[in-house]
Amino acid sequence: MGNMIEENAARQIFNYSTIKKLDEENGSSFYLLNIDQLRTNFKKIEKAFKSRYENFIIGYSYKTNYVPYLCKELSKFGAYAEVVSRLEYDLALKIGQESNKIILNGPLKTSEDIEKALNNESIINLDSMYEIEFVREYSQQHPNKEIKVGLRVNFDLSENGESPLVEGHEISRFGICVENGDLQHVVEQLKAVSNIQIVGLHGHFSTSNRKVATFRRITEQLCQLAKEHFPTTIEYIDIGGGIFGEVPKSLIENAPTFDDYAEAVCKIMKREFDHYDYKPALILEPGISMVANCFTFTAKVIATKKINDQQFVLVDGSVHNIKPTLHKKNLPMKLVSKDHTKEKVKDTFQIVGYTCLEKDYLARDVQGQLPQPGDYFIFDNVGAYTIVLNPPFIKERPAIVAYDNDEIIVVRKKETISEFFNEDIYKF
Ligand SMILES: *Cc1c(COP(=O)(O)O)cnc(C)c1O
Repeated sequence: MGNMIEENAARQIFNYSTIKKLDEENGSSFYLLNIDQLRTNFKKIEKAFKSRYENFIIGYSYKTNYVPYLCKELSKFGAYAEVVSRLEYDLALKIGQESNKIILNGPLKTSEDIEKALNNESIINLDSMYEIEFVREYSQQHPNKEIKVGLRVNFDLSENGESPLVEGHEISRFGICVENGDLQHVVEQLKAVSNIQIVGLHGHFSTSNRKVATFRRITEQLCQLAKEHFPTTIEYIDIGGGIFGEVPKSLIENAPTFDDYAEAVCKIMKREFDHYDYKPALILEPGISMVANCFTFTAKVIATKKINDQQFVLVDGSVHNIKPTLHKKNLPMKLVSKDHTKEKVKDTFQIVGYTCLEKDYLARDVQGQLPQPGDYFIFDNVGAYTIVLNPPFIKERPAIVAYDNDEIIVVRKKETISEFFNEDIYKF
C-alpha cells in the first residue's frame, strides 16, 4: 500500500503564498535548489574523511547534476570537478574551475581531449588501451614535458561468487583489466616512455547496495596495485563515487553514514602509506550523495478526476522530472494547500503527469488529503540523475530556482519555444 504524505518532508520556508509567487514568475512547475543543504553536505563529507586522512580531495561528479550554478558553488567550496566528457570538461572551465582541479574520466576520450587535459595539467584517468596510444603520441610531441597520468582499473569485486554490481552485471565494462594482464602490459608500455609517469589509480564501481565492505575492498585493491606497479610515483588513490548520502528512511533503511565509509577507507590509506613521507591524496567522487537531497520539485495541481472508483490527481509535471529511471517507490512529498478553510477529504489517489504516457505516475496509491486545483505538491530528494536525464518530451524544461537562506536566485529560466527549437540548429 501507499506512503502517507510526509507533512514535514519539504523545506518549511515555502508556504502557499511564496510558492504561488514563484509560480507566477517561473511557471507552475519548478525545481528548488537549497544551497545551504549543499554546503552542509559538502562540509559533512569533507569532515568525515579529512578528519581521518588529511590529504583528501572531493571531485564532484558532474554528470549527476551539472546545473552551472551548482557546479560553481561546489567549486567555491573547494570541490574538484569530476568530468566524463568534453562537454563537462569545457563546462568546468567555463564556470571558472582551475584546470588542475579537473579530473577527466570516462570511457570515451579523443586525442584532442587528452591533449587539452594534459596541456592544462588536469588529472586524467585512462580507461582503455586505445587512450594509451594518444598519450604516447603526446609524449613524443612534448619530449621536454613531464606527463602524469592515472589509470582506471577493473578487477573482480564479487564475494562468494556474487557480484555486487548494479542490475546484476557480472563484470564491469570500465577500466583496464587487472586479471587478464592488461594492467601489467599498460604499466610496462608507459614505463618505457621516459617522460610519462603513472601517478594514480582510479576504481569507480556502481553497486546496488553501496556497502562499506565494497569500498574497503576497492581501497585495498587500489593501494596494493599502486604499490606493486609504481610505488615511487604514486600521488593519488581515487575510489570513485557511489556512496550513499543522507537518504530519507522511506527510501532506504540503515544506509551507511559518511563516517562509516570514511572510517573504513581512511584506515586502509593510513595503514598502507604509513611509512610514506608524502601521503598520496585520497580522492572521492560523490554524485548522488552530494546533491540528491538539495533539490525539490514543485508541481501545481491542475485537476482531479475519477475513472471508475480510482482517484487521479493531474499535476503540471511528469515522472521524468522526478524519477527518470521510472522506479516505483514514492518519494517523500508534501502538499501545500491553497485553502485551509475547506473541509479536508481523506482519500487514496494517483498523482499523474502531463505526458501522454500511461506510465506517467509521479506517485502511486498516495493516502492523504485530496488536493484541490491550485494546490502544489513538493517532491523531495530529486537532485541526482533527474535534471540531466529529463527528456525533451512534449514540454519545455522547467525553471530551477536556488535559495540560500533568504536569498532567491533563478539559476535556470523556464525554457521557451525558441530555445527548445533553437533556430541555430533546426531548419524550419
Ligand atoms: C557516476 C560516477 C560517479 C558518481 O557516482 P554516484 O553514485 O552518483 O556517487 C563518480 N565517478 C565516476 C567515474 C562516475 O562515473
